[in-house]
Amino acid sequence: MPVNNIEDVRKNVKEWKKEGLTVGLVPTMGALHAGHLSLIKKAKETCDRVVVSVFVNPIQFGPAEDYDKYPRTLDADEKLCNSEGVDIVFAPTPAEMYGGGRLSNDTLTYVCPPFFYVNKLCGKTRVGHFDGVCTVVLKLFNIVQPDYAFFGQKDAQQVVIVKKMVKDLNVPVQIIQCPIVREESGLALSSRNKYLSEEGKKDALVLSRILNNIKSCYLKGITDVSALKETAYSFLTDKHDLEYLEILDKNTLEEKDKADDDTIVLIACRVEGVRLIDNVYLGGK
Ligand code: AMP
Repeated sequence: MPVNNIEDVRKNVKEWKKEGLTVGLVPTMGALHAGHLSLIKKAKETCDRVVVSVFVNPIQFGPAEDYDKYPRTLDADEKLCNSEGVDIVFAPTPAEMYGGGRLSNDTLTYVCPPFFYVNKLCGKTRVGHFDGVCTVVLKLFNIVQPDYAFFGQKDAQQVVIVKKMVKDLNVPVQIIQCPIVREESGLALSSRNKYLSEEGKKDALVLSRILNNIKSCYLKGITDVSALKETAYSFLTDKHDLEYLEILDKNTLEEKDKADDDTIVLIACRVEGVRLIDNVYLGGK
């Protein structure tokens, strides 16, 4: 059975730590797929005990976003976790995490990452999103006190920001980043792919096609960022509502004029109204 209660998680972790065991945390919002499973497998390889959190975090969704309709499949998630040998599935209610009250920044202590990191990419349209992410991630770190925490490159801005928070606030956890898992077609796995029709899934391949094309242009010697971005536009049709295409430093998210092996290309695009994101490193892994 999933553990819903913070105190029960703490008790278990305390026992493990007494025995000198290492603890890994995989934070998720559930609707688990092979992308999440790759993080869980890596955690199992790295740590003696693994906690997977399943929590659709209300404070990282904007008022017009899909919090209410976000897929919730806890029974299936738990079965999957059990089959992977996960030690605890931590599935708290919003009230357990935040109390019953209003969740404005008048009533809750928020962790707000620096403007430079949030005023771009997903943070530009999802105002307050990364405050919500950092707040819940730090809470989860304080509840579970993991030695290692596992995040996907799929949410590349999120990993950069979480690493920054951990460094700035001296959180004693090591962040392990895991590669993007894709369908054979190239589509990056996402819980939101469930919203797409079969046709929409085909249209959604534009994201990975644009990224692959930019990467192959870079490998052929094109480094000018504007020229690389230009190559994307021939792939887009009226089925695609491009939100951003950015070419940035992979560690600092700074803009650059010339791409190099420390460069990441990130894209967000709506297909059938579903907001999809993807990215690729130009220098390989
Ligand atoms: P979510 O449940 O969407 O919040 O994702 C939980 C974790 O799984 C995050 O660290 C994501 O980056 C990671 N993740 C989601 N999709 C993928 C994927 N296709 N490949 C690898 N990791 C992923």
